Amino acid sequence: MAKYVYDFTEGNRNLKDLLGGKGANLAEMTNLGLPVPHGFTITTEACRHYLAEGSVPSGLDQEVAEHLEALEAKMGRKLGQADDPLLVSVRSGAKFSMPGMMETVLNIGLNDESVHGLAKQSGGNDRFAWDSYRRLIQMFGKTVLGLDGDLFEHALDELKGRRQDTDLDSGELQQLVETYKGIVRDQTGKDFPADPREQMRLAVMAVFDSWNAPRAILYRRQERIPADLGTAVNIMAMVFGNYGNDSGTGVAFTRDPGSGRQGIYGDYLQNAQGEDVVAGIRNTIPLEDLEHLDKQSYDELVGIMETLENHYRDLCDIEFTIERGKLWMLQTRVGKRTAAAAFCIATQLVDQGLITMDEAVTRVTGDQLAQLMFPRFDGGAGKKKIAKGMNASPGAAVGKAVFSSARAVELAEQGEDVILVRRETNPDDLAGMIAAKGILTSRGGKTSHAAVVARGMGKTCVCGAEELEVHTAEQRFVAPGDVVVSEGDVISIDGTTGEVFLGEVPVVDSAVVEYFEGATEPQDDLVKAVDRVMRHADRARRLGVRANADTPEDAARARRFGAQGIGLCRTEHMFLGERRQLVEDLVLASTDAERQAALDALEPLQKSDFIGIFQAMNGAPVTIRLIDPPLHEFLPDIVDLSVKVATGQATDKDRKLLTAVKRLHEQNPMLGLRGVRLGLVIPGLFAMQVRAIAQAAAEVPGAKPEIMIPLVAAVQELESVREEAVKILAEAGVEALIGTMIEVPRAALTAAQIAEAAEFFSFGTNDLTQLAWGFSRDDVEAAFFSHYLDAGIFGVSPFETIDREGVGRLMEIAVREGRSARPDLHLGICGEHGGDPDSVRFCHEIGLDYVSCSPFRIPVARLEAGRAALTESDSDTR
Ligand code: ADP
Ligand code: MG
Ligand code: MG
Repeated sequence: MAKYVYDFTEGNRNLKDLLGGKGANLAEMTNLGLPVPHGFTITTEACRHYLAEGSVPSGLDQEVAEHLEALEAKMGRKLGQADDPLLVSVRSGAKFSMPGMMETVLNIGLNDESVHGLAKQSGGNDRFAWDSYRRLIQMFGKTVLGLDGDLFEHALDELKGRRQDTDLDSGELQQLVETYKGIVRDQTGKDFPADPREQMRLAVMAVFDSWNAPRAILYRRQERIPADLGTAVNIMAMVFGNYGNDSGTGVAFTRDPGSGRQGIYGDYLQNAQGEDVVAGIRNTIPLEDLEHLDKQSYDELVGIMETLENHYRDLCDIEFTIERGKLWMLQTRVGKRTAAAAFCIATQLVDQGLITMDEAVTRVTGDQLAQLMFPRFDGGAGKKKIAKGMNASPGAAVGKAVFSSARAVELAEQGEDVILVRRETNPDDLAGMIAAKGILTSRGGKTSHAAVVARGMGKTCVCGAEELEVHTAEQRFVAPGDVVVSEGDVISIDGTTGEVFLGEVPVVDSAVVEYFEGATEPQDDLVKAVDRVMRHADRARRLGVRANADTPEDAARARRFGAQGIGLCRTEHMFLGERRQLVEDLVLASTDAERQAALDALEPLQKSDFIGIFQAMNGAPVTIRLIDPPLHEFLPDIVDLSVKVATGQATDKDRKLLTAVKRLHEQNPMLGLRGVRLGLVIPGLFAMQVRAIAQAAAEVPGAKPEIMIPLVAAVQELESVREEAVKILAEAGVEALIGTMIEVPRAALTAAQIAEAAEFFSFGTNDLTQLAWGFSRDDVEAAFFSHYLDAGIFGVSPFETIDREGVGRLMEIAVREGRSARPDLHLGICGEHGGDPDSVRFCHEIGLDYVSCSPFRIPVARLEAGRAALTESDSDTR
């Protein structure tokens, strides 16, 4: 038969799944011989049963009764016994800490009779007994009976006036108990339950139920904690910090969770119980001062902190209570910490000989590293917030508001910092986005164009700030309260919080980025720690890390950040700006000769682009993707052209362009004439690009080009392109791998065939996700993703983290079948996912050779690849 209850002496810290974090660690401390009050834990399994069936599993009541009896025997008193009561706390505790999200009830076992017994037991401390009783009714009323906590708070406030709670005497507290009982009666129509066992039973169920309280659900979603784990319940003998001034309660950290520095960190409150410390009802004292109040308990606590650090080999946080000079440990766990502290603590622990460098790498996360790479606003003084949008790409940016890409470029060239403000951005805004310090949009979500591009560039972005009315033509926006911001007015945006401020908020740069840029030798402790961790991650990782980079500048930065090559060099930006003209000529060409002339004009331009990138990469491989987007993206806007024609301002070419634009118009451009299809339909287009690559490679010693064909669905598409490319390369005497993107589900499913014509695969997981789910990426997020997230259809957008079950499955098939056809097939990924921590781990697991991501994500990918290699068998590394 299932065992649903474990005494603290039966558990240990590895049983978090079953006993929750609190229960497992209480057991661990008990086994270490630390002073923990006796108690037992009801398992998460019992909770899951209760939540699923609406009733506790059979046998649970019996088991609880037996453990309670054993506890009573150890304590020499019975729960709620009238003349000498045992009191217990009933505490929640899930596998992952969810601070303050669920319920805990203290002082269970008190009623109108046992309150006198408690007073007698304490040597006539009536005040203490009544204080405990009123706390029970207050907590029980709020958490078990579901009453509004303010009802009790108000009654307490009214009674104490300007005094503190400790100033109330026993008569007043007795009076408060009567008031509280009245509140319970008024609100529920029933008396406060006097039966101690009934109190306990109801409290246990309330803890179970608190797993599904709205705030707990929200917290889990945010922290990506699975919804079906359930909570354990801990029942333990009460110890009392509210006896008087020789008692108290506190919290402590074994080192500073903000910076990682070693020392004594914590707060203590005399004559207090439970949550009083964090609730801020009175001013706490710094933990160091406990030394002067109660040296013996203080020394014992410091000793225990050292024991716990050495035992857990990590920062621990602790909850403790002192009862009349006797120290009791009530909780410990490996404590949360800031990103900076995480790196510092990990390397300190190595220096102390507590952990290895391997472990140190697993103690920090890519997300933490990413946080350290963003500039941030300095302090909070004098900020005037005017709006809040989505925190699309973290960091802090300050600059003059501008409303067009061209203006952004112009002002940036004059050395001005600008924030590009748009309703939404489109590919034509790219230059402006690059020029701007940050991007602010009033529409679109976290996967909107602005968000995706900004994240890729490591540029601060707030998007979907819907309170803002952006008037692009008039070059201004209006914020709530009729705040008008015109071109040139300075604004500050916080991409980490989504806030928008009027005026300039001071910004500090990231020391970690300066270090990656090679500008500084590691000096401060944090940078030194990051340096050590990164070096070790690099030694440990099996995955290569490449960059998505389209320009020599990006390529150079990528190399400084540690990229071992370029995994995606897009060529479409090479058709923008002045070169649009040539694309227009190409589209309008009515004869072979005209078309060839346009291509001939593009070729030397492309060649010089590639030379720049090969030089920047200095012999590292460069995967160049042939042109991918539909050609009409390069043509003028259909509306603009129509207006020109209608108002008689059109040139001859405009009229021809309008016809061409209409001809090329597609209902679903993402599914239309793009990628390899363009190469097959427009003679000479791919050949021109391949020739430019070959000639550039011939001119740069050591250049290592790889030619990548986008949007392939069938091997036949690839074969004819490949044949032509092979010929051109041979003519130029240049060697290059020829491969394909795997971004159409059919390509993944026919990978064995495709591998016959491809020397490498690179998973384009943006398109693969789009096509596998049937999601039009530019539309779905704003339209219904929040609905899907709320409904739990997925816990995180599949455009952010690879959907392992669907898209991931396609990838696994392609890897397996591709390698079976061509054992030395080289495999990578170049979608946005290449820089996402979870997705990097997945790529490691399915055996890819490298991930490719935007330059700013490279350190994150390096670290995560190292972590993946070092924790291969460990699924629990959040
Ligand atoms: P949370 O998970 O929100 O921290 P806890 O279950 O830790 O809730 O309970 C909150 C506080 O109640 C503890 O920090 C401790 O001070 C107090 N507490 C819990 N159990 C006992 C007990 N048996 N004796 C004394 N105080 C207790
Ligand atoms: Mg706690
Ligand atoms: Mg694609």
